[in-house]
Amino acid sequence: MGCDLLNRWIADGTCDRELSKILLKAKISDSPISISMRRCAICGAETDYEICPKCYLERYTIYEFNPYIEIKVCPKCGRAYSGKWIDKETALMDTILKNFTHDLEFKILRFELEELGENNGLIRVEGVFRGEKLTYELPFELRQKFEVCERCSRLYGGYFESIIQLRAENRAIEEYEVERARSLIDESIEKADYPTAFISKIVERKEGIDYYIGDRNLAKKIARRIEEELGGKLTESKKISGRKDGRDIYRTTYSIRLREYRNGDVVRDGTKILLVTNAVKGKGVDLSGKSHVLKNPKVIAKKEHVKRTFVVNVDKSVVEVLNPTTQEVVQIEKRTDYSIGEEVLYFEDKGKPYIFPEL
Ligand SMILES: [Zn+2]
Ligand SMILES: [Zn+2]
Repeated sequence: MGCDLLNRWIADGTCDRELSKILLKAKISDSPISISMRRCAICGAETDYEICPKCYLERYTIYEFNPYIEIKVCPKCGRAYSGKWIDKETALMDTILKNFTHDLEFKILRFELEELGENNGLIRVEGVFRGEKLTYELPFELRQKFEVCERCSRLYGGYFESIIQLRAENRAIEEYEVERARSLIDESIEKADYPTAFISKIVERKEGIDYYIGDRNLAKKIARRIEEELGGKLTESKKISGRKDGRDIYRTTYSIRLREYRNGDVVRDGTKILLVTNAVKGKGVDLSGKSHVLKNPKVIAKKEHVKRTFVVNVDKSVVEVLNPTTQEVVQIEKRTDYSIGEEVLYFEDKGKPYIFPEL
């Protein structure tokens, strides 16, 4: 029940984890060691203790709770403050726990947020004191003060220290490359726990995409990861963007130029014609299917122009295949073994047909 309310309020799925954290934080105490049965000093009832739980509870309080809970909430991102800006659920529970203290003999079994409204809520505490199971419902008043957090004030102010430019050599950036770059950016931002870890703007240009990043070091890290994963060339440039306290302020641009060749493109590398099999690692296969490392490749056929077709005839030195566009039989020099009916990759360079064995 408490969980549901909590979830409804913060629309997050971390309730169980947070509650177990809360139970841990509640400083669960050890059970008292009893030696022999004795009598309560006040009422004379049999008990393991000097004073029986009933008499103890009549005279002493075993917990204290300050029912005025005050938290600062950022109206932009919804996070709340408890030492630092964190998710609202955790910040609220932290604050509630700071307002709750208890006798070490009062062993807390459950500590749950039972109800939560705009301005108030209810905590349910279950525990054991001297063998007695006790349940308390603690209403509290909630005061939420709205204050824009540091990150949001920078983010919404358009703050950025760095630009990552994603470009591609002689071609448009592929959809999967845009998606991968974006997920690398998002992952890195999520991991970075500081107020300038954000994208303040994304600009799509004719030549590529610009990502405006709040933090310079983070931008550098992201740019390197994109370069590593997508393959390309990373360059860095600095520009003075203003002055602060007598010192120049720089904005750094990290430009990643993705390689022209992609998996499936055909390149000419020296005297070899190669089908690119791993664009990031720079690998390809030649017309006989043998692997090579790319040295100075130039794209001669884009993957869109490499088509599948079939072998219709083979002899000692010639392979006959169907031209996939005209369906005419074409003769090609034989560079490796083929069998009739085998699928091959077909392309033309300056009107001359070539085939690669199917990988
Ligand atoms: Zn007693
Ligand atoms: Zn915020």
